[in-house]
Amino acid sequence: MHNKKDLAYQYLCNDLFTRSKIGPVFYVLSTLITGLLAGFHTSTSVPFIAALGVLSIVAIIRLTARPPENGQASLDKFVHKHWVLVFCCVATWSLFFSWTVYQFGLSSAFIFGLVSTINFSTAIAHQFSPQLKRALFCSLLCLIPTLGVIVLFQPSLQVAAFALVLYMPYLMLTAKNSHKEYHDHLDNKLQLEAALVELEVLSITDGLTGLFNRREFNHQLEKALAASNRTKQAMGLILCDIDDFKRINDSYSHTAGDDCLIHVAKVLKQVFTRETDIISRVGGEEFAIIVLDDNENSAMKSAENFQQALSASICSTQGHEIALTASIGVVRYQAQMNIKLHQLYDLADSAMYKAKNNGKNRVEYAAL
Ligand code: GH3
Ligand code: MG
Ligand code: MG
Repeated sequence: MHNKKDLAYQYLCNDLFTRSKIGPVFYVLSTLITGLLAGFHTSTSVPFIAALGVLSIVAIIRLTARPPENGQASLDKFVHKHWVLVFCCVATWSLFFSWTVYQFGLSSAFIFGLVSTINFSTAIAHQFSPQLKRALFCSLLCLIPTLGVIVLFQPSLQVAAFALVLYMPYLMLTAKNSHKEYHDHLDNKLQLEAALVELEVLSITDGLTGLFNRREFNHQLEKALAASNRTKQAMGLILCDIDDFKRINDSYSHTAGDDCLIHVAKVLKQVFTRETDIISRVGGEEFAIIVLDDNENSAMKSAENFQQALSASICSTQGHEIALTASIGVVRYQAQMNIKLHQLYDLADSAMYKAKNNGKNRVEYAAL
């Protein structure tokens, strides 16, 4: 079972992975178009070819990367690799474009590249804002080299430098909002998932005893019958009704009666300990157990064990020591018996009533 922090980290990594697939192709395209506009193709420019080469390789790595796996160590590794690749893209583009600006100043390559630079810095700041500091670092890395080149070497483009400087705080503030929105959304998602799990547990659980409720029992019995037909493994259905329970309520109080039901559930859990045993409360003071019926552990034997364990136990509640017994009916189901679920239940119920009629505190077996 994941704790909330691990789950949040897993989601964050999945989101970084999904978002990381969008950008790489655009870095390659922008580099190609800027290079063509600058005429680098006619003069075999080494920086142009190098940038195209690096960005194409990084794009292939980013696009073919596998999704993050569970486990802190492999997720950390994924995150590390993700940021190294983003850094490579940004640094390569940024150096290539700064170099283009240095070489040509105002040109159609400059206009196209500047718009691309602003697009990249915006996309990084928002797409990767779940990890804000790294996102801002890469986003600003996209802008600062170009800014530096303009200020130092292309004074005629100072108005563009001014626009970039003005854009930086705007970018940082909006990325901060994206970061907050992402984590608020993630928190809500985790809370909703936790609530759904809780709801699911509640919907199959009996509130008093913590055993499965009647609805879940029906579902489990259906599954057990199907499994039995498939595996040819016999199964047993055991129905228990607490004897004279009304008298216990009347003599000691309804609350004491509740404690007795909790006590019965405890004894059931002590007797039916196999992983495959399914214990449910199917009515007021009625319980049902689905068991695998094999040589090692027949349903009849288990039922007798429970009957003895319950009658030997005492429920201590509200200063009273209450003895409890149960009448128990057992039916054994074998694969392909051609019997319906409700018929099986009725057979166990009849056996249980036989136990009542034969003096209570006993086990009866349903004859098929
Ligand atoms: P028998 O031996 O024939 O089974 O008699 P009984 O008194 O156990 O059976 P009966 O059906 O007459 O009474 C069952 C009682 O169980 C009546 C009802 O008030 C009580 N009961 C049902 N659900 C609960 C519950 O959740 N808590 C408590 N304390 N009592 C309950
Ligand atoms: Mg009853
Ligand atoms: Mg009863």
